[in-house]
Amino acid sequence: MKVLKFGGTSVGSIKNIKRVKEIITDGEEKIVVLSAMSGTTNALVEISEFIKNNNSSEAIQRIKILEQKYQEVLYELFESSNIKQEVENYIYLVFEFLKEGVFEKYSELLYNKIVSRGELLSTYIFTKYLNQEGVNAQLLPALEFMRIDKTNDPDDFYIKQNLQRLIQDSLPADIYITQGFICLNAYGEIANLQRGGSDYTATIIGGIVKAEEVQIWTDIDGMHNNDPRFVENTHAISNLSFDEAAELAYFGAKILHPQTVMPARKANIPVRLKNTLLPESYGTLISKEFKGEGIKAIAAKDTITAIKIKSARMLLAYGFLKKVFEIFEKHETSIDMITTSEIAVSLTIDDAKNLVSIVEELEKFSMVEVDNHQSIICLVGHSVVRHHETHRLFKVLQDIPIRMISYGGSNNNISLLVNTNDKITALKSLNSYIFDFEVV
Ligand code: ASP
Repeated sequence: MKVLKFGGTSVGSIKNIKRVKEIITDGEEKIVVLSAMSGTTNALVEISEFIKNNNSSEAIQRIKILEQKYQEVLYELFESSNIKQEVENYIYLVFEFLKEGVFEKYSELLYNKIVSRGELLSTYIFTKYLNQEGVNAQLLPALEFMRIDKTNDPDDFYIKQNLQRLIQDSLPADIYITQGFICLNAYGEIANLQRGGSDYTATIIGGIVKAEEVQIWTDIDGMHNNDPRFVENTHAISNLSFDEAAELAYFGAKILHPQTVMPARKANIPVRLKNTLLPESYGTLISKEFKGEGIKAIAAKDTITAIKIKSARMLLAYGFLKKVFEIFEKHETSIDMITTSEIAVSLTIDDAKNLVSIVEELEKFSMVEVDNHQSIICLVGHSVVRHHETHRLFKVLQDIPIRMISYGGSNNNISLLVNTNDKITALKSLNSYIFDFEVV
């Protein structure tokens, strides 16, 4: 059994919905995970913002605009029949729910309920479309099996029990469709796996059903060796190990939700990134195999804050770092990069919401400097740290002001911290130094 996930653009137009139907109807049994149609989740987030700010007239206005979009989908995708009537009723109910939500008291739960409607709509519409076209497809409601625990990790036991039960109880089908992104929390309330979380849904399911492969279908032909928004002539990387892909996803390669690799690595299930618009292209295969050597890819992550903590007390003392780390732990803030000298330690965080309290506590025993507007540039490849060509990197660094460098933390990653104003120049010069020398 394979698990295939299709992203927002893949189900974002009538043409693409029809393409997806072609891709999945190859006679093999599969589970298909869908995102919301492109633009829908953003629209729902905006609607929630208007509700939060008590701007009910704008919220209603936006709901009506979105409803219009779904009316168009209904008329273009369905022929007059009972199925069309069922879809029309469903769309009506979803939008009635949203309109009633405008007059409810805003809460996180209301937000979660509102944003969940995108995936509920796309999966219902797509399943009914497949049925209309004679495909034996059944809907598996994610809210009946997908659940996270108190630490926001998937509750594997619950998911397995309930997914198996649902499949057994459902009518036999060639294709099972389910919602990405949405889930229940530990208290049984509607929650989600964070923006872009449908990829994660797919590998969680893949791990549970021991899928032979998980495929993530988007509108780009795999994970690229540099950021195509800033650098020309990037190309898709054919093979990545789980570790390499996890580093790239976390450090900015937008194509994959950062947590996606974890369940696949745990269950050793290959993940293939594919392009819905170019199904015949190879894409990127992520597996436990390490292929190729040297730097394979560069990614960048913005909105990083660097914190330098300086203290004479650090000299020849033990326990100083413990004290520092405990403060970050207390404020539930994770640290990405870290470098130390004998009297100072620099580290980076990407979530600065507790920065003021963290700095206040650090200042009790050290001098603290904070730099905002930083970017981490991450260079990834198997054994990059040891590879004989990696010295090229240091030639490039002469011309780019580097704030921090992390080398040797793992064999697969070298990270640089630069001011965000220097990011594009850094990505371009690293690109020409590294990839123009055909290091394979
Ligand atoms: N629809 C959700 C979002 O836009 C989840 C996803 O697409 O993966 O973030």
